[in-house]
Amino acid sequence: MKIIIIGSGLMGIASAFYLSEQGHEITVIDRQSGPARETSFANAGVLHPSQASPWNHPGIARQILGWMGKEDSPFLLRASALPSLFGWGLSFLRHASPERFRANLQSNTVLANYNMQCLQELLSRHPISYSASSLGSLKVLDNEQDMEKQSEAVSLFTDLGVNCKILNQAEIFALEPALVENGKKLVGGIHYVDDQAGDAHEFCLQLAALAQQNQVRFEYDTRVSGFEKSGQTVTAVKTDRGDYQADAFVLAAGSYSPILARSVKLNLPIRPVKGYSITVDMSDWENPPRMPVIDETAHVAIVPLGNQLRAAGTAELTGYNTELNQRRVQMVIDQVTARYPAASESVKAGRFSSWAGLRPSTSDGVPIIGASPFNNLYLNTGQGHLGWTFALGSGKLLADLLGSKPVDIKHEPYSYARF
Ligand SMILES: Cc1cc2nc3c(=O)[nH]c(=O)nc-3n(C[C@H](O)[C@H](O)[C@H](O)COP(=O)(O)OP(=O)(O)OC[C@H]3O[C@@H](n4cnc5c(N)ncnc54)[C@H](O)[C@@H]3O)c2cc1C
Repeated sequence: MKIIIIGSGLMGIASAFYLSEQGHEITVIDRQSGPARETSFANAGVLHPSQASPWNHPGIARQILGWMGKEDSPFLLRASALPSLFGWGLSFLRHASPERFRANLQSNTVLANYNMQCLQELLSRHPISYSASSLGSLKVLDNEQDMEKQSEAVSLFTDLGVNCKILNQAEIFALEPALVENGKKLVGGIHYVDDQAGDAHEFCLQLAALAQQNQVRFEYDTRVSGFEKSGQTVTAVKTDRGDYQADAFVLAAGSYSPILARSVKLNLPIRPVKGYSITVDMSDWENPPRMPVIDETAHVAIVPLGNQLRAAGTAELTGYNTELNQRRVQMVIDQVTARYPAASESVKAGRFSSWAGLRPSTSDGVPIIGASPFNNLYLNTGQGHLGWTFALGSGKLLADLLGSKPVDIKHEPYSYARF
């Protein structure tokens, strides 16, 4: 079958790789000049089946309202974004009930665990390198109240099969000695034993190269404006380099998927949620950290990726805006230097870079994978803040559904039909 995939981020490349293994003729189209130049470029790098929670947890409405207008809040809703959020926002709040949150968390955890199996299987065949680590991740907490709340969360996650251990301060320091220097306030935390980390951009470059070996064609610098259709069949994608025809189409354009879907009146409940990361050179640090650390109080993930330290966090509903707001960049810098004083020197010397990306977030916090109302248009999008944790699992599921192969996990929780 001739298949066109729109988007060469984590989802597009993973879809292309698995579809090419089935022998299809694949073309990936992207407006950028190479793989993974948008949201998959500098994410936090954590593969965390342990933390596959949708953001719309019970109590989120009160939190977001309390944070409104506060530039330094971890989740900032800007008034200018409100008109674009109306239907999506209501659905987001509906899904924050305890029952729906738990069901959506369960669906995400299944997909995240499936992703880890796919990753293991891929690496057994193709030992690619992407600054990976398999030491688990460490959630650190600075006050006793948060520690108590976490005990509840731990039992919820343990029920879902997540392997985690509550640790006291000394046990945390033993696992991550780099936390000792500034660790007086730290009271304890949780070790999520099976989590991993790695550089998603490096991974995309390697996976795209494997896909190319399977004859996948990548057409870069090509901007898609929408689809052509005839009845319930998509006949072509329209681009600034002409129309492309195929037997089937996969929409994997991240936060831009709903904009492209609109051209055929398909409504995708996905909105962009902006986040920031900084990447700090730590090649001359005496005692560099080795574990991914999730700072629960500051809402930031701080993750060693080879000689670099990536820190990412903050969520902002501000439409399609990737400008770097220096105040929010500084928030992330301050959180890193508060944990690891050595970072101050690197930052002072300018040995760091900052970045912002748009998480493609569905209103229920679960991605959309598989068929659409059009008989030859497939969707692999809406992975939100968990796209690295879901990428291979999503790509394999999409490829099996499109290729009419038996699927390894139940696909209904991710189907478009649920909306
Ligand atoms: C700050 C931050 C930290 C994160 N940390 C983590 C983490 O630790 N763990 C985790 O699991 N996830 C994390 N994520 C989420 C993860 O990065 C995303 O879910 C994932 O990158 C989304 O991949 P994608 O392929 O859907 O989208 P993208 O990577 O954005 O790919 C979409 C592609 O479509 C192309 N495209 C869009 N429109 C058009 C058009 N009109 N024409 C042609 N091409 C087009 C774009 O150029 C792009 O290449 C984080 C995200 C952010 C922002």
